[in-house]
Amino acid sequence: MTRPDLCLDFANTRYWRGQSAPTETLNAPADLATWTKASKIPSAKEFEQAIGLRETIYRLFDAQAQGKPAAPRDLEALNAAMAQAPARKALKRSRSGYEWDVDARSGTALALLAPVLWSAGDLLAGPRLDRVRRCANPECGWLFLDDSRAGKRRWCSMSSCGNRAKARRHYHKSKEEDA
Ligand SMILES: [Zn+2]
Repeated sequence: MTRPDLCLDFANTRYWRGQSAPTETLNAPADLATWTKASKIPSAKEFEQAIGLRETIYRLFDAQAQGKPAAPRDLEALNAAMAQAPARKALKRSRSGYEWDVDARSGTALALLAPVLWSAGDLLAGPRLDRVRRCANPECGWLFLDDSRAGKRRWCSMSSCGNRAKARRHYHKSKEEDA
């Protein structure tokens, strides 16, 4: 089963985006091959295309998380990529049910990223779009789907952010109590 937030996972391959030196996990074409479980390493040009697409996806969902309209060129770029990616036309059995069968024979970055593109399209056009959040730690920038019942989740899954904020609040509180 393809997770609905696969596109957010891909966007989060770069994180600590609010810091001067974000953490980049896709540094070379081989990293993209590992992430997409591809047997062939994409070319440098395809890698560049994939990173460009990742940033497009990040901006689209970041805008959504902030309640701002996305830049029209980002939607255009996503549409262009979806048009070039293999069509979603067959299902196959997977361990947990079914998954879309990607025709990855072309081995292009767009074929590798087809499930990411489909996930982005489904999330943008689906009922959970208003559950897309960006971590409340401005240095973090992590995107996630808020599955909580109340829909008030503010922090990413990295324990660092929420805990850090809590620790800071606690610190300030105890400071005030000391004063
Ligand atoms: Zn965070």
